[in-house]
Amino acid sequence: MLDIHWIRQNHERVQTVADQKGIAVSVAELLTWDEKKRNLLQEIEKLRHARNKLSEEIGTLVRTGGHKEAEPLKRNVKELGSRLAETEPQLAEAQRQFDQLMLCIPNVVSPDTPVGRSDADNIEIRRNGTPPAFAFEPKDHVALGELHRMIDIPRGVKTAGTRNYFLRGPGALLHRAVQQLAVDMLLSRGFTLMEVPLLVRSDALTHTGYFPFGQDQVFRIADEDKWLVGTSEVPLVSYYSHEVVDVREPLMLAAVSSCFRSEVGSAGKDVHGLYRVHQFSKVEQVIVCEAELERSEPLLDAITSNAEELLQLLELPYRVMAVCTGDMSQKTYKQYDIETWMPSRQTFGETHSSSHLLDFQARRSNIRYRDSGGKLRYCHTLNNTAVASPRILIPLLENHQAEDGSIRIPAALRPYMNGLERLLPPS
Ligand code: AMP
Repeated sequence: MLDIHWIRQNHERVQTVADQKGIAVSVAELLTWDEKKRNLLQEIEKLRHARNKLSEEIGTLVRTGGHKEAEPLKRNVKELGSRLAETEPQLAEAQRQFDQLMLCIPNVVSPDTPVGRSDADNIEIRRNGTPPAFAFEPKDHVALGELHRMIDIPRGVKTAGTRNYFLRGPGALLHRAVQQLAVDMLLSRGFTLMEVPLLVRSDALTHTGYFPFGQDQVFRIADEDKWLVGTSEVPLVSYYSHEVVDVREPLMLAAVSSCFRSEVGSAGKDVHGLYRVHQFSKVEQVIVCEAELERSEPLLDAITSNAEELLQLLELPYRVMAVCTGDMSQKTYKQYDIETWMPSRQTFGETHSSSHLLDFQARRSNIRYRDSGGKLRYCHTLNNTAVASPRILIPLLENHQAEDGSIRIPAALRPYMNGLERLLPPS
């Protein structure tokens, strides 16, 4: 959410950002309803004031025996009452239209955000590691998973429909190992680990910027205002909603959670293997801090480098992309995606997404702090994946495979895999 006073002053800029983000909203329409609402409110206040004054006069007249003189005034009060009865619903409608449009207005973007239409226009800003050159025909993660009996997609589909899977044995252990490695890293960097609700109210999704636009991506419990989160960012940010928080030190929260996504609109896309599934697990980093760019921008770099260090520990080649306007969500001010090398795709695939939201989420969620001058201000919020599995198993299995089908476990993961150095295919 942006401040309406600011939108009034900067409506052209806001419309430009909406167009660049591909969001169909008219700022002019918002401002029309804004003006209508303000005019109606003024009119209603005038009518109420006039009615109150007349009512007082009638009271005085009645108390002093002026019943006759009070009669025309009573008629005026009635007339004012019917005008109010006409105008109040108009105000309610103007307010409703205004509120709906406000929820669609996008956040502004940072000056260094590339302008573009889709992920093809994202710009690589750095890369690390070298994709392996195999001297044999490498297997993809599905074949490796079958060989090791650790990924079972047919039984996932049999049980839960398309885009579902079972992980078993070493697959399930690796899935937990990468998450625990990420959690331990975040704990060592001062994050507080949270266990969070996964079924949330629609308000939490609206306030964190996932509704209205992402509504079709979210699974709902039938006939209830309970929605399965697609990311623990939603409960982590909502934890502080409607509160005045102390952000003299940034609030740094982490959670491991299941994430559920309908993936509506992805029909036919990434249908092979574990890349795009309905349920996955994610270790998430969320930061709530002062609304000062010089404090919050370095935190975007910090949460991005946490993810990069994790990929280095997993010994996986990756690149960092500056995400363009057309590939960003409504709420984002600045975004980096990290893409990891996936041999079966012969390209990098997105594994992490690091975002700065300025005060957009905090304004919607009503999360404030007192600045050094004692003024109440909305916080800045940021988030990034630390690791998301099973997608990360794709590069992990594929990059570390050997010709005999065995898979090397990177040293950093071994403590979480009972010291195992290599997964050998079962005989
Ligand atoms: P996002 O919260 O959409 O920025 O996604 C963060 C990360 O979660 C992505 O970079 C992926 O690693 C993972 N992810 C997102 N959607 C899916 C999905 N449908 N299936 C598997 N992993 C996903």
